[in-house]
Amino acid sequence: MKQVILLGAPGSGKGTQAKLMVSELNFNHLSTGDLLRAEVAKKSDLGNRISDLINSGALVDDDTVLELLRVNIDLANGQYIFDGFPRNIEQAKALDKEVLGSAESKALYFDLDLSIIKERIINRRSCRDCGNIYNLLISAPGKDGVCDSCGGEVYQRRDDNAEVVENRLNVFKSTIDPVLEYYRGKGILTSLDASLSPDDVSTQIHDILG
Ligand code: AMP
Repeated sequence: MKQVILLGAPGSGKGTQAKLMVSELNFNHLSTGDLLRAEVAKKSDLGNRISDLINSGALVDDDTVLELLRVNIDLANGQYIFDGFPRNIEQAKALDKEVLGSAESKALYFDLDLSIIKERIINRRSCRDCGNIYNLLISAPGKDGVCDSCGGEVYQRRDDNAEVVENRLNVFKSTIDPVLEYYRGKGILTSLDASLSPDDVSTQIHDILG
């Protein structure tokens, strides 16, 4: 049983592939972005404290995110996909030390030219209910604003706009290298070509995970 860590810029397709891995490979999906957005939607104390940070594209502090991860994971439940975590080297080390322990894991890097990411993110829409992800240019929902899968509301995340994307990409660029180095050093990192279609990226993942 392997725990799988998805690494890659915002908009590189991690969420789309995580959904496929849940349905095809029986993984549990843990997205720290989804967990944090749920706190904001609930207007919990935590949600109110972090909503400005999220909307500006900055990272939430490590302790808060790690705690949220801890209360939402039970490794005895099977295989997990870590989507959006770790975001920096401190989180990568904490994930090993405090969550994964000796569990076998694999890291997949969604390699993608950052120049095409902005367009992907600005055209991204998400279902509020089931989290399905759409792209208005290549995979728009059949009915405007309505999720094909569950009929929920399809909306644009507040941080999926041109100004905030710039900031999110800068955060990504300044934090990713030590994380990749860390997993490369452990011998568990594989890169995949995230510029391909969702089906082709999925095939790569099936091949990598065997
Ligand atoms: P995502 O859905 O992964 O694009 O995350 C959306 C936003 O949630 C990020 O821009 C951060 O503000 C916050 N966030 C998600 N995951 C993390 C994390 N591991 N550490 C810190 N902040 C995070």
